[in-house]
Amino acid sequence: MDNAAIADVFDEMAQLLEFRGENPFRIRAYTNGSKAIRELDESVAAILADPERDLSKVPGIGKTLAEKSKVLVETGSLPQLETLRKEIPEVVIQMARIPGLGAKKAVKLQQELALESLGDLRKACHEDKISSLKGFGAKTQAAILDGLSIAEAAAARIYWCDADELAASIGRHMESCKVISKMQWAGSYRRGRETVGDLDLLVVADDHAAVMDHLEAYHSHSQTIVRGDTKISIRVGKSFQVDMRVVEADQFGAALQYFTGSQAHNIHTRRLAKEQGLKINEYGVFQLDDESRVAGSTEQDVYAAIGLPWIAPELREDRREFEAAASGTLPELIETEDVIGDLHMHTNATDGTATIREMADAAIARGLQYIAITDHSKRVSMAMGLDEKRLREQWKAIDEIRSEYDGRLTILKGIECDILERGGMDLADDCLAEADWVLASIHYGQKQPRDQITERILGAIENPHVSCIAHPTGRLINRRPPYDVDMDAVMTAAKKHGTFMELNANPARLDLNDLHLAAAKRMGIPIVISTDAHSIDGLGVMQYGIKQARRGGLTKADVANTRPWSEWTK
Ligand SMILES: [Zn+2]
Ligand SMILES: [Zn+2]
Repeated sequence: MDNAAIADVFDEMAQLLEFRGENPFRIRAYTNGSKAIRELDESVAAILADPERDLSKVPGIGKTLAEKSKVLVETGSLPQLETLRKEIPEVVIQMARIPGLGAKKAVKLQQELALESLGDLRKACHEDKISSLKGFGAKTQAAILDGLSIAEAAAARIYWCDADELAASIGRHMESCKVISKMQWAGSYRRGRETVGDLDLLVVADDHAAVMDHLEAYHSHSQTIVRGDTKISIRVGKSFQVDMRVVEADQFGAALQYFTGSQAHNIHTRRLAKEQGLKINEYGVFQLDDESRVAGSTEQDVYAAIGLPWIAPELREDRREFEAAASGTLPELIETEDVIGDLHMHTNATDGTATIREMADAAIARGLQYIAITDHSKRVSMAMGLDEKRLREQWKAIDEIRSEYDGRLTILKGIECDILERGGMDLADDCLAEADWVLASIHYGQKQPRDQITERILGAIENPHVSCIAHPTGRLINRRPPYDVDMDAVMTAAKKHGTFMELNANPARLDLNDLHLAAAKRMGIPIVISTDAHSIDGLGVMQYGIKQARRGGLTKADVANTRPWSEWTK
């Protein structure tokens, strides 16, 4: 078993233990071990085989995981994992994503009704089998039916960041295949959609069989669904599908354009082609009258053949990209390197894991010039949110270390202040007035009716001390729907009062979404992209926010934290 496969086993152990509500330290041991093994530059098997070496001495691994690695290398499986898998079937994990259902009830339902899929659960609801079960009732049954679509979406589509990790891993594996001369990912992954249903790989290779054999040798390949002469579909891990197509070099651009999509974008390109007496398909661009070939080897050529500049994949949704392309106004999309500040992060004063200093040092290492420390306010009692007194103490501590960071990093005194259920801010105005940066956000009363939620957010926007609305819709992708909020009213008010809107870069949030971002851009509302980091590693999610911002058509100029802090005005 190779390192990547061992790391996958440890990740799955962590996931299942977490599901069972095990000790967090035990869970972290597995995630740390997985990370350590993934980053090792030699094979675990080689270390184990060397009597002079001791795997347990490798940082992040330790005695227990070294022993488990040995079992994995020798036998190819881990008895503890097999036991856990039996105890917690996949469908239970899927069911637990139904809002409000929870792990315990999911286990009970699965056992009582012998469910094997979410489809079985839906059927059981329709046949009214759940309302009569002890501890469930008609209300729960209705709530399950209501939330099933979220769980179904989650079972079918993974977060973009997870797809990205998988694509990188498969990419590294395929790089060692000598017959490949060109390789690129297409599909919704390339377009940066917030969730991805499957991965599409395009390769140019002389030997089709060899390249397909190589893909089938990928460590977590679990099944070949179909294998033909130019296309192969496999499953990796439990169920995720990866398609690979082998194309000719002179068709590569046309295939890339075609398989990147979206479907709506491609329908539009075909229509434009037809109007010009041309035909576009996955093999190239052709003259309609004599079928002669016009373009196909690069995407640039394909777009040029229909009179357009190359369009960035993130924009290919048939929204306004064709208008912009035709008029030469395609946006120059923002890049991760453009961001020089991060204005939303937590420390161990509330639910973060690092100190202010640790966050500051990590921010410098990532090339940032300024950060705001924005811990929770007191309403978030389960995260030990700060009251005015503790917050002022934290600001004093920031004052004390500021000079150490002079010329390297500006540390701003901030707060993520809750918008109370009844409206109004969780902390006194005189305290908020002393902050450099105030985020306002909702963590409670998320299911209130539209008018009430909207009023609460409007109230925060109108508060002169509030700088920015954090995660404005509160959604968690695949887990929780957005609040029922009138975004038009919120954006109009934000524009009027000069309040910033956050794009929260956490891959589970990505809130605002791409359509909201495009609307904010049209209205001239500046966006702040923030990580909402709860640890030093959490600062690394900025890239996912950038991907989302690109889908919204945002440029460097549309994003406020690309500018030096000295240039900011509310
Ligand atoms: Zn928050
Ligand atoms: Zn936060």
